[in-house]
Amino acid sequence: MRTLIIHAGATGYDSDAVFQFQRYLLEAGDECLLRQLGETWDDAEALACAEDFDLVVLSGGDYEVSRLLAALAGRDLSICVFPSGPVNLFFASLGCAAEPFALAHACREGRTVAADLGEISWIGADGRRERSSFSLMAGTGFDAELMRAGASNRRAMGQMAYFMAALSNPQPPVVRFTIELDGKTIERDGIACLVANTAMIQGDIEIVPDCRLDDGLLDVIVLETPDAVGLLKPVLFGFLDPSGKNLGRPQIEGFQGRHVRVRASERVPMQVDGEPLEDEVLGFEARIMPSAVNLIVDTLSPYFSGTEAESEADRASLLRHP
Ligand SMILES: [Mg+2]
Repeated sequence: MRTLIIHAGATGYDSDAVFQFQRYLLEAGDECLLRQLGETWDDAEALACAEDFDLVVLSGGDYEVSRLLAALAGRDLSICVFPSGPVNLFFASLGCAAEPFALAHACREGRTVAADLGEISWIGADGRRERSSFSLMAGTGFDAELMRAGASNRRAMGQMAYFMAALSNPQPPVVRFTIELDGKTIERDGIACLVANTAMIQGDIEIVPDCRLDDGLLDVIVLETPDAVGLLKPVLFGFLDPSGKNLGRPQIEGFQGRHVRVRASERVPMQVDGEPLEDEVLGFEARIMPSAVNLIVDTLSPYFSGTEAESEADRASLLRHP
């Protein structure tokens, strides 16, 4: 097996785990190229000759993984996402075991899910249309305000930074969102309107139940609460019921579709995969890119497509690991 590991090593506090993973992965006769990313890098350079490998491992946090996945969209490759960053929500949403041996094992098994990615565009301050892909979520309003407030200490604090930011801004502004979803128009007042490819937020909470990254659909989410107490409620509910299936989510409304155009009644901050934009926007347009990347999944993942017997056999072989 020929493996390319792209490692953004500088970001994660547990970033040495990928070397352990590499030792577990390799067998006699295998080839493995480890490409270390610096502070800045070029996508094409990072992914050069990716097609020459049987497996491409993306080792980093959400920022690196999202960016590299976007560059790999539509290319027929087996990709393993390895969680090496301070925040690894995309990996968490895949539901695989975050353990180097188990991930190496899953890579050798080679089971993949054809995962969607999202694409979003907006009008920038200079009047030109800007475009970006996203793997997690993008959107306008309070969530982007959070990202902006949390961005400065995110690298150091990871997910706690967002909660701190939420608590420091108790009165987010309410905006009217006009949402055109696959030709249907919906109007809502809220503090944020998001589009999600996979709806995992901080602390393993699924903000919208049953949001899948392999259904070819975007989830459009409106946060309708005008005050921080109301905002904390869904977060609290999330802790009590992480999957959202039993209690539901108060003050969060969700829709699904393939293409959405969102207009806000005033300029709002925006974020793409947790990265805040510099300028505020009056809306955005987003679409789903169905089955854009093939991602390795293990038997723990809700995206594993093998039979129950195969899962059993797989777990048994994992238990034999010393
Ligand atoms: Mg989906």
